[in-house]
Amino acid sequence: ISSVELTSEFLARIQTLNSGLNAFITLDEEKSLAQARDADEMIASGRSMPLTGIPLAQKDIFCAQGWLTTCGSKMLSNFVSPYDATVIERFNQAGLVNLGKTNMDEFAMGSSNETSYYGPVRNPWDLSAVPGGSSGGSACAVAARMAPAATGTDTGGSIRQPAALCGISGIKPTYGLVSRYGMIAFASSLDQGGPMAKSAEDLALLLNLMVGFDERDSTSLQRDIEDYARDLEKPIEQLRIGLPKEFFAEGMSTDVASAIEAALDEFRKLGATFVDISLPNSKLAIPVYYVLAPAEASSNLSRFDGVRYGYRAAQYTDLENMYKRTRAEGFGEEVKRRILIGTYVLSHGYYDAYYLQAQKLRRLIAKDFTDAFQQCDLIMGPTSPTVAFDIGEKCDDPIQMYLSDVYTSAASLAGLPGMSIPVGFGKKDRPVGLHIIGNYFKEAQMLNAAHRYQ
Ligand code: GLN
Repeated sequence: ISSVELTSEFLARIQTLNSGLNAFITLDEEKSLAQARDADEMIASGRSMPLTGIPLAQKDIFCAQGWLTTCGSKMLSNFVSPYDATVIERFNQAGLVNLGKTNMDEFAMGSSNETSYYGPVRNPWDLSAVPGGSSGGSACAVAARMAPAATGTDTGGSIRQPAALCGISGIKPTYGLVSRYGMIAFASSLDQGGPMAKSAEDLALLLNLMVGFDERDSTSLQRDIEDYARDLEKPIEQLRIGLPKEFFAEGMSTDVASAIEAALDEFRKLGATFVDISLPNSKLAIPVYYVLAPAEASSNLSRFDGVRYGYRAAQYTDLENMYKRTRAEGFGEEVKRRILIGTYVLSHGYYDAYYLQAQKLRRLIAKDFTDAFQQCDLIMGPTSPTVAFDIGEKCDDPIQMYLSDVYTSAASLAGLPGMSIPVGFGKKDRPVGLHIIGNYFKEAQMLNAAHRYQ
């Protein structure tokens, strides 16, 4: 099958399904097919690389040259990127095809895709349920087979939680492995791009293309190239799996608990052993995250002022008034809430009490993991405390929404790699995800364990 045929198949499926699911917010069939033709030429002339010709969906947080890049916001509703993010550039060079840009929570702030200016995404398993967020469009696109794979970004759980809620696989690599250049910033010390796909094997192949040093990202890590698919088939008899008591406590719903128990049983059958561990400070992850992430966001989002690019209010009296109206009209409610929290915790007189305190706790949360990895190789637990909730269910209760990330945000604060794989179904036949946390740079080991299970 040629890339043009493959791409056309997926584009046709998108045409049929997207009006009901709202996973894609920008499509450009001509651009996609032109890329597919180029890929076919690469293959014909013997210049093909792994995955050349494979189409994939791009989260709309990644700048792609000539493509509308909105980040789910009215603020960037007219922004056509003049350049490619490093991630996009790498996929282009390898001859992959961009199928379109996927819906997301506005500026990646959310856990349900309901903060998007472009409307909610529906969960393909149950149209009344959310797909999770913020990479909800990408998760939906893969789950509904509108794309074989997609990119996502994860600041506190945004790859893993939607992967779990949509019954697909997703991995957030160690912080610093995937370049953030051209990935619109939310909380720079936490943001990390990664792949979302059907299986761990697909994730490994995609990760091989995404990871690499980039001098345009000052936090990019310089490391030897790894093949993330190298260990997929390795037996896991020696594997020690840590089960943090804090992740198996109250809060997790019983349907999720039984799916997780069943998955752990499979790992036992594959020869893995289990170790009880403790991450005593992980209960502080959500409060710490909601000080630090908004603090960084308030600074990152100050660039959206109506002057340089993006939305500008139609009517204003003077420059100051133009800033105010542009930001009042261009940002949604959740984004404004984060900016207010962020500027508050950074302001003189509160900085020591909130921001500095949170930074110290972040260190303690990371140290818990360092200690735990003395006793085990991987840590497992649920990705999300519940299966997908209904659209509208948590919209008026930000704290409940924030708690969607109770299990994922600690690893984010520590900069550790985390992934979610599908392990069955809970209430209302909605998918459950198993969360796997690895030590720094242990992506290959995580993918190995996930692949053996799958
Ligand atoms: N749900 C979290 C938030 O709203 C995490 C989002 C993300 O990882 N981008 O901030």
